[in-house]
Amino acid sequence: MELTTPTKLEFYDQMLKLQSKAILVHYFKGDDGRKALILDNTIFHPQGGGQPSDTGFICVTDSNLRFCVQDVRSKDGVVFHYGVAEDSSMENELEQGKGKEVILQVDESRRRLNSRLHSAGHLLDVCMRNVGFAHLEPGKGYHFPDGPFVEYKGTVPLNELQSKQREIEIEVNALISKGGKVNATVLPYREAAELCGGSLPDYIHPGSNPRIIKLGDNPGCPCGGTHVSDVSEILSMKVSQIRTKKGMTKVFYTIGT
Ligand SMILES: [Zn+2]
Repeated sequence: MELTTPTKLEFYDQMLKLQSKAILVHYFKGDDGRKALILDNTIFHPQGGGQPSDTGFICVTDSNLRFCVQDVRSKDGVVFHYGVAEDSSMENELEQGKGKEVILQVDESRRRLNSRLHSAGHLLDVCMRNVGFAHLEPGKGYHFPDGPFVEYKGTVPLNELQSKQREIEIEVNALISKGGKVNATVLPYREAAELCGGSLPDYIHPGSNPRIIKLGDNPGCPCGGTHVSDVSEILSMKVSQIRTKKGMTKVFYTIGT
């Protein structure tokens, strides 16, 4: 397997899988001095799309030694699992372990929080449409625990900010109480567009097979992240602030514990 072969992203259709097996492709020291593992496939979500990376452990099968995964990044489709081996014998094992089977274990509580925050961001998009902001086009999302927000192209009249903030919060919590299954599917472009209300954003290549996330019966949205299996798992949501300036609107939120 070439080092430039894209890593198969198993979490694309197996979002709830926290343990899996893979084949070790390469173990090396990166340019920044960090040790990294490349595998043929992974359930670890790399940082991107506004979602932090997963953490966890990778072990060589039939060995008790662990490689502690602290950060995961993707470059040109190849996923780099950065971290530290528990001891030097583990390092030797990894250096000579090309082609060996490894066991992956994703940290569950961190993944659950990241998934809840990410799904909450998408639910916010649904609510924005429901409260009459269909003209606001969802842009960048930041679903990190330290101040998550979604940014929209377009503005909100300043005199409506407070009332809309309340309205969105009521709507979003009503949707959480109602619940709804969350589905992720990789589809041909045209089917994906249909699922997303007829069209896809410009950054999705027309020849590609995008992955679409759908919350309940609401229109889908292209996304590479991990999500809850049901909207009710978000528990509750607070819209903490709406900022609108220079043609952009940012909606900040927090989720219940
Ligand atoms: Zn997303």
